[in-house]
Amino acid sequence: MTLPHERHVLVVFPHPDDEAFGVSGTISTYIKQGTPVTYACLTLGEMGRNLGNPPFATRESLPHIRKQELLASAQAMGLTDLRMMGLRDKTVEFEDDEKMVQMMTKLIDETNPSLVITFYPNYAVHPDHEATAKAVVRAIRRINEQERPKLYAVAFANNTKDQLGEPDIIHDIRLARDQKMGAMRAHISQTAWMLEEMDKRLAEGEPEAENWLTYERFYQYRWHEDFETSF
Ligand SMILES: [Zn+2]
Repeated sequence: MTLPHERHVLVVFPHPDDEAFGVSGTISTYIKQGTPVTYACLTLGEMGRNLGNPPFATRESLPHIRKQELLASAQAMGLTDLRMMGLRDKTVEFEDDEKMVQMMTKLIDETNPSLVITFYPNYAVHPDHEATAKAVVRAIRRINEQERPKLYAVAFANNTKDQLGEPDIIHDIRLARDQKMGAMRAHISQTAWMLEEMDKRLAEGEPEAENWLTYERFYQYRWHEDFETSF
């Protein structure tokens, strides 16, 4: 299946591996179709909880390891425009709001995307995810309505289906299955246990695991129900 044509796709997430499970199939599919994709990753995930047991990393070596994993993930997806934005893991929520919006505005001005992908504000669970999503929404909100790129958002809070209903956008990503597996495997320091679980479920032919390698789901950001009612 072919995804609808886009001029340029800009993906913004705070952590290496945020792209892997929910969006790497979409990124790879666009790249296969010849659509330019930029992935801006705000931190190097240097506070990642998993240092291994026995430890494979220290606090000092983890950022280096995760940077290599992020590069490997980009390579697996065929992505050439990877931006490492240099913020610190677990502190994105404490960055100055305006500085964050400016960072997003600069990325948008430079890449001129017709589609932006990030998390859905208030449905993104982790404070870094929330801060990233809010900055992206604020930056796009400043653009004239007619000129705004589309905004697809990943939502996975427990109340997502109750509040937002079924996802608006479903991408068939089965042609990028290998690339998605490659991206998920690239982040092995943080995803080893998940991958083990998934391999087991795939081997058992569990439909839900198959589904993961077949579809990726997004909500179209609802500007008429903006997360900030006054701004
Ligand atoms: Zn994350």
